[in-house]
Amino acid sequence: MSDRKTALVISAHSADFVWRAGGAIALHQARGYDVTVVCLSYGERGESAKLWKQDGMTLERVKAARRDEAENAAAALGVSDIRFLDRGDYPLDLGRETLEQMVDIIREVQPKFMFSHSKWDPYNTDHMRTTDFALEARMVAQAWGHNPGQKVLGAPQLYLFEPHQTEQMGWKPNVFLDITPVWDKKWAAIQCMQGQEHLWHFYENVAENRGNHFRRNSGGMSGGRDCRYAEGFEAVFPRTVDELD
Ligand SMILES: [Zn+2]
Repeated sequence: MSDRKTALVISAHSADFVWRAGGAIALHQARGYDVTVVCLSYGERGESAKLWKQDGMTLERVKAARRDEAENAAAALGVSDIRFLDRGDYPLDLGRETLEQMVDIIREVQPKFMFSHSKWDPYNTDHMRTTDFALEARMVAQAWGHNPGQKVLGAPQLYLFEPHQTEQMGWKPNVFLDITPVWDKKWAAIQCMQGQEHLWHFYENVAENRGNHFRRNSGGMSGGRDCRYAEGFEAVFPRTVDELD
């Protein structure tokens, strides 16, 4: 087992990790972390409209195309461990078996922190189910009585990444991460998502806006840090610290 620090992303569909946490992923990979990305589905039915508009398209072809895109995007972010659980989308089918599989992955990876979606998403129940599922898997992974003998999970933070149509989601960021040094990698990963070209500039704009919030919250005009691109996250669990800053 390696001594490298690890992180885990649980993404409902195969592109979500790119828009919502691509910068955090690339940044931590560059800092020596091994980031594992788990895609519960390919987003083959609900997030692949452009592919479905082509003549003669089939579910298997859409899934293969989305898998290729996600693998290319992961590589652009420096990730070598991306896993596809292929649970179907719209709706996701997350039963007991998938939960056990996820718990095994969490215990294997032993992430220092995790990422998932917002708690509420009335436009996309797959997203909010994924967050519930991530919390449940994290809880089970912490249970000493679950598969005794496996390494029990500590208490990794769960960061909820930014949803689409942010204001409707009850999502309130309390962490801003400067992703300027890896923006070129996130932009390259975004461009791997050929099926969702309509979102590219939208998410460039989100990153610029969050960069503004980073500047303001790091001191603004009174000594704030420069930052061009950022990602916002909502941390679920309290921090344990020795000194306030
Ligand atoms: Zn999605």
